[in-house]
Amino acid sequence: MTVHVDLSRLKEAAAGPTTYRMLIDGRFVDGVEGKAGGRVSPGHGVEVSRYAFGTAADVELAVAAARRAFEAGAWARMKAGDRAALLLKAADLIDSRRDEIARLDAIESGKPISQAQGEVAGAADIWRYAAALARTLHGESYANLGDDMLGLVLREPIGVVSLITPWNFPFLIIAQKLPFALAAGCTAVVKPSEMTSASTVVLGEILMQAGFPAGVVNILMGTGPDVGAPMVSHPGVDMVSFTGSTRVGKATMATASQSLKKVAMELGGKNAQVVFPDADLEAAVDAAVFGSLFNAGECCNAGSRLIIHKDIEADFLAAYRELAARVKVGDPLDPDTKVGAIISADHHAKITGAIGAAADEGAALALDGRIPAANSSQYLNPTVVRNVKPEMAIAREEVFGPVLSVLSFSSEAEAVSLLNATDYGLSAGVWTSNLDRAIGVTRAARAGTVWINTFMDGYPELPFGGYKQSGLGRELGKGAVEDYTETKTVQMHRGPRTGWWAPRG
Ligand code: NAD
Repeated sequence: MTVHVDLSRLKEAAAGPTTYRMLIDGRFVDGVEGKAGGRVSPGHGVEVSRYAFGTAADVELAVAAARRAFEAGAWARMKAGDRAALLLKAADLIDSRRDEIARLDAIESGKPISQAQGEVAGAADIWRYAAALARTLHGESYANLGDDMLGLVLREPIGVVSLITPWNFPFLIIAQKLPFALAAGCTAVVKPSEMTSASTVVLGEILMQAGFPAGVVNILMGTGPDVGAPMVSHPGVDMVSFTGSTRVGKATMATASQSLKKVAMELGGKNAQVVFPDADLEAAVDAAVFGSLFNAGECCNAGSRLIIHKDIEADFLAAYRELAARVKVGDPLDPDTKVGAIISADHHAKITGAIGAAADEGAALALDGRIPAANSSQYLNPTVVRNVKPEMAIAREEVFGPVLSVLSFSSEAEAVSLLNATDYGLSAGVWTSNLDRAIGVTRAARAGTVWINTFMDGYPELPFGGYKQSGLGRELGKGAVEDYTETKTVQMHRGPRTGWWAPRG
């Protein structure tokens, strides 16, 4: 199946790229050193965006602005109800610009427009959830310490936070961080991926329009080494929340350890769906297709491994192939597209390389989605790799493409052992109508999320994050605002105090 893209849907093909600037201290500015970057739509091969890129000098300005805004206290000590009102206003403005924001994520990342629209609506919902949490954030009191003592545990904002995001869900992932940091009373320096920065700049416009004070949110653009690294090492930053690859996450933690900053990490995954013969197989096939192809597989939560009972493997894969053939791969701006473009030519080469390496290692290509480069180098069709052994790279390493690795089992114990046989532990799915079995596999899974008879659902109310090398900490859920706080213990003494050296009286 080849992909042909009609450029008439892309207004930038005729009008040229749009320019985006950084937000520092309430003003949209170019970088101190005048650096710039650009983005070619991976789905169309047309330059769609030009960005002002920053360097360490801009990080200095942004951290100083965030620090001033924090110390001034107007934001950190604002009534939570007033902060919540601003978060709600931001959510309304996000809704009002939903189509525009979704289009930017689609043309910059290659994701399908209909999916991007859902992500922007989901992001607005998360901003609303954070607004609710702002008003319920509270500490603790201890009135059980004796008649002369009242103990209080105050929750205070941690301070200035650096928030660094990847390219695969540009608008959604910043929504998993920023509104919670703001709800806690923190100020922020934000850096989107250098490939997908436009929608985060639009978020900056929205926050300014909503009335957030200058300096509370600063948005920098640029590369990891130029901007991300100084955002992590800067002594004026109190906490770093990072979503991206496990490799960069480890380097980020090492840098943050030099100044003992708090870190939160959302990293890679090699998630599996385990399918038993007693499952609703039609639903499981659909979930296997969805789990492996959603966002072209460029998803930390992708169901990139299928662990299937050997008795049903052949029929299941036949049904998978039939359904996958009906999934529309193509122009991200076509409303019917389900699988868009791969983020970059480099990443495309990495995916096809991983498919080739799996075949060299002895796995079988049940479905080969590699499309000749002469046609379009940045699309891939669904790919299924069979006869995968747990020691193969395709079973252990994140491919981040529309590629399903199939491993088979004969017993529940073997299924659990395969499920846990990776360094990652982000999520897992189990398909069975046997409740005992579902509970057993769920309890044994070393993963931050387990779906039973469903896959990749998400709610702001439910915490999200990984075991093992998939990360550190959790986003979303009722603890999400607390993550951006410090506690302060206060001991209030009442009445005469017994002297230590010479008792009074
Ligand atoms: P990446 O690690 O290359 O980049 C992520 C961000 O870090 C980008 O903004 C990048 O510019 C920045 N960065 C790069 N080098 C840096 C440095 N030295 N210091 C500070 N910042 C630096 O990841 P990516 O390729 O953009 O995204 C894909 C990865 O993200 C995948 O591994 C995926 O699994 C992971 N991811 C995880 C989750 C999750 O919630 N667990 C969600 C989405 C993506």
